Amino acid sequence: MLPLILRGLTKSYGGARVVDGLDLELEPGRCHGLLGPNGAGKTTTLRLALGLIGADAGSVDLLGYPMPAQAALARRKVGVVPQIDSLDPDFTVRENLLTYGRYFGMKGREIEARIPYLLEFSGLAGKADAPINNLSGGMKRRLTLARALVNDPDLIFLDEPTTGLDPQARHLIWQGLRRLIGQGRTLLLTTHFMDEAERLCDVISVLDQGRVIVRGSPRELIRQHIEPHVVEIFGDGLSEWQTCASTFCRRCETAGETLFCYTDAPEKVVEELENHPGLRYLHRPANLEDVFLKLTGRDLRD
Ligand code: ADP
Repeated sequence: MLPLILRGLTKSYGGARVVDGLDLELEPGRCHGLLGPNGAGKTTTLRLALGLIGADAGSVDLLGYPMPAQAALARRKVGVVPQIDSLDPDFTVRENLLTYGRYFGMKGREIEARIPYLLEFSGLAGKADAPINNLSGGMKRRLTLARALVNDPDLIFLDEPTTGLDPQARHLIWQGLRRLIGQGRTLLLTTHFMDEAERLCDVISVLDQGRVIVRGSPRELIRQHIEPHVVEIFGDGLSEWQTCASTFCRRCETAGETLFCYTDAPEKVVEELENHPGLRYLHRPANLEDVFLKLTGRDLRD
């Protein structure tokens, strides 16, 4: 059974189509990325998938249940890590887990039995009795992840789980997410960090204007949509260089003071750049961010 099937999903707000005939299927045991610029419709898609809002057209099948009609049944095996932490600041870590577990109809004893595992999983062992306000941002995020696991979900929705975290905290969250994937759970992750998506996701759907514009593994998307090398060039004399850059680069893009040279033959570009001492450059392999910017553009969306 596919954990989530979205067919022809459509949702408008004030006459604007926010989700526009969207089709999406999640395969079990995989981490799926939902990427897109601000306003692309990612959060609305998650809300529709969870049955928190109803669609204008199309269907949602969540863990075999039609949504939103059978939302309560489906959500028993679903975990959610929302964009903004909604932990209760008046409660301790343990009390937060107990309260959340009760939403799923779990008994106190049952939740208590899971707490040591959840705290170990999230690197919060020994923090059961800590008040929420004593936790760092990274700890709160990890507790939100632990809380999403209280009902032992098969499918976990994660809406920008590492936004605002330092690199150490992000790595800890990634470790936890990899462990969940290793346990055969299905993850649906939205993120603005392309490196995060590249590291974690088996399949990525890029959304723009409420539609999936491409889908594939990070490696496939890079291979299919972008030249393999990028040379980023900046510094004095960029405009003169720019006029002859097309001789060396398959495709060039300018963003601010930087020229992005996309090429199959970076050695030629680098060799030519040695003749322009005023220019500085960075040569790197193409990545998912290059694909994302190529497909969705460099203009700000909000
Ligand atoms: P994303 O998560 O990709 O940034 P969202 O799904 O949050 O995109 O939003 C897509 C568009 O829908 C945005 O233009 C947003 O302002 C609009 N939108 C989302 N929810 C509502 C709502 N409840 N009422 C009106 N407009 C909304």
